[in-house]
Amino acid sequence: MEKNFYREVLTVLPDGVSVVDTNNEILFWNKAMEKITGYSSVEVLGNPCANNKLCSINSEGKELCDTDCPLKEAVQKKTHSEHSVFLRHKNGHRIALRVKTYPLQNQLGTIIGGTQFYSLLSAQEQLVAEVEKLREEALQDWLTGIGNRRFGEMTLKKVSRPPTDTSYGVLFVDIDHFKTINDTWGHAIGDEILRMVASSLNSGLRNTDTASRWGGEEFLLILPTSTIQDLLTVGERVRMLVEKSWLEHDNTIIKVTASVGGTIAKKNEDIHSVLQRADQQLYLSKTNGRNRVSIDK
Ligand code: GH3
Ligand code: MG
Ligand code: MG
Repeated sequence: MEKNFYREVLTVLPDGVSVVDTNNEILFWNKAMEKITGYSSVEVLGNPCANNKLCSINSEGKELCDTDCPLKEAVQKKTHSEHSVFLRHKNGHRIALRVKTYPLQNQLGTIIGGTQFYSLLSAQEQLVAEVEKLREEALQDWLTGIGNRRFGEMTLKKVSRPPTDTSYGVLFVDIDHFKTINDTWGHAIGDEILRMVASSLNSGLRNTDTASRWGGEEFLLILPTSTIQDLLTVGERVRMLVEKSWLEHDNTIIKVTASVGGTIAKKNEDIHSVLQRADQQLYLSKTNGRNRVSIDK
């Protein structure tokens, strides 16, 4: 009775909760975990977590399952830890999460597994609220759920409107060889890839940055920053997150890469001239082999 009571409380908690035994086999997976990851408890219970498809990576793209698993650390060192990770959602895209890991002991003090609490990062939470607002204002892209071109244009106007002390930078992100994806897998899978890429791009942004779908398979990121280093960091992170996302279709893994081009706006510079320079950098990334970031110095 008491056991059921605690189980019920964990099940309905708004944060994701998962429990594993010492072999890393998943014993418990609450409703919030299902919502966050897209995987139902039936799909994951009894599976070793390294075997499932979540494949946590850190912001440098390093896979944590094999060498830096927070659960193994908690069980072996009997310590708790907290990490920011990018988990893979069932739909393929990456989601930014904060995970707290604790060792789990029985009444004798023996370690019998580990517990993990997952919460969406505040940028993600803010994104959800912003998307709600976008929907109301018809500034949302119907396919991917991120901002549409009109939203991108409005954001550009806002950040470039004088007098402004804060500078901004833009990044164009264009999927590589996307036509081949459509030709090989069909338009519907192409659409799914667009949704996956848009979601992964969003995960790589800070809550002051915005993403919009600028054209077919091209996205515009706007960052309130004045440093090339900042643009490079975000550009490289989103490029990596796209590269590390994949769809599963008919037992085949479908992946894409993206090329990125960016620039920092000069004081009082016309928006079209800023976009033109970013576009030239995107062209450089394409001609230099794709799946890379170019920023003009
Ligand atoms: P590159 O690496 O040079 O960017 O090559 P690419 O094939 O990505 O570029 P290209 O401009 O030749 O092709 C873009 C393709 O994107 C062609 C078009 O059919 C496809 N596309 C545009 N919008 C959509 C869409 O909403 N859904 C799908 N499935 N495809 C789209
Ligand atoms: Mg393309
Ligand atoms: Mg294009």
